[in-house]
Amino acid sequence: MPKAPLPPGSTIGILGGGQLARMLSVAASRLGIETHIYANEDAAPAFAVAAGRTVGAYDDEKALAAFAGKVAVVTCEFENVPAKALEAAARAAPVFPPAKSFAVAQDRLAEKDFVSALGVAIAPYAAAGSLDELRVGLSRVKLPALLKTRRLGYDGKGQVPIGDASEAESAWQAIGGVPAVLESLVRFEREVSVIAVRGQDGEVRFYDPVENVHQNGILAISRVPAAISQSTAFEARRIAGAIAEALGHVGVIAIEMFEREGESPNLIVNEFAPRVHNSGHWTLDACLVSQFENHVRAICDWPLGDTARHSDAVMTNLIGSDVDRWRELAAEPATSVHLYGKAEARPGRKMGHTTRLYPKS
Ligand code: AMP
Repeated sequence: MPKAPLPPGSTIGILGGGQLARMLSVAASRLGIETHIYANEDAAPAFAVAAGRTVGAYDDEKALAAFAGKVAVVTCEFENVPAKALEAAARAAPVFPPAKSFAVAQDRLAEKDFVSALGVAIAPYAAAGSLDELRVGLSRVKLPALLKTRRLGYDGKGQVPIGDASEAESAWQAIGGVPAVLESLVRFEREVSVIAVRGQDGEVRFYDPVENVHQNGILAISRVPAAISQSTAFEARRIAGAIAEALGHVGVIAIEMFEREGESPNLIVNEFAPRVHNSGHWTLDACLVSQFENHVRAICDWPLGDTARHSDAVMTNLIGSDVDRWRELAAEPATSVHLYGKAEARPGRKMGHTTRLYPKS
């Protein structure tokens, strides 16, 4: 018998209180669904738009269980939530995405093993659990390469380039001597991502592939449509669907890839995030149903919404003091301004974004 979807009036719990939780809450409220945010800081940006709040540590199992007891379903806005926190919440409420999506995404080595086992191309890699193992890896993996920590790396943090095997020791020290993965540097034309959503019944829908530009390791701009061929777009979606399916994922998932023109295979998967993603923010303005609403729909077992794009779009992150230009940006035609309500504009901090819309090409 099909499960009943969660009706309007239900409350979903979100672990994490940043801008992603804030935009999830706003999307949920449009469907008549309330949110309760669990965050580890008093000034979480999502608190301002949520019906309920809990301030607690992500390893406080008692507080997590009490929080989960107040909501109909629990989800997360970040992938590094401790497995024990998910288990504590799962004792009181269903948790989506499933634990497997987090377990694989949290560990770069598990992620690479998982993706390559699906027959999807990734950069050549080797485990580097110790300096000795790194030395062995350097004799096998083509240089130049990147040494990345297995856990807790994001926005280009936790990784160092290695141009020559003689740099093994300094690179190992630079990443703090923690378990890592060595991977060859990929020469690519562009970075693309695919935002997909998978429902509890296994249906998968895709947004159009996005082209992303990073600056200082942080996403700066996302553009749709990406300047890729139709067959590459088709292949990018196929890869995203295969990963979502193999995980048994429920909710939004973002798969980041490199495109190498004229090479085979031309798409190399870098990593995936089992959550709504910065490279999907444009869907708020250029699609009927955004990634945030579709995530809420999926975890509440609603029918998935239309992912079609009605406009071309360029999303620009407002990082640090960029946000001071809010008044000027708000006056631009065909531009939507999103501000996250963060009090302090520290360098490198995502403070908001704009989406500029253009007629569909
Ligand atoms: P990550 O932390 O894995 O998302 O990497 C951050 C950024 O570093 C990516 O968006 C790429 O721009 C770059 N990068 C990561 N891995 C590679 C690689 N194997 N080859 C080339 N560039 C990479």
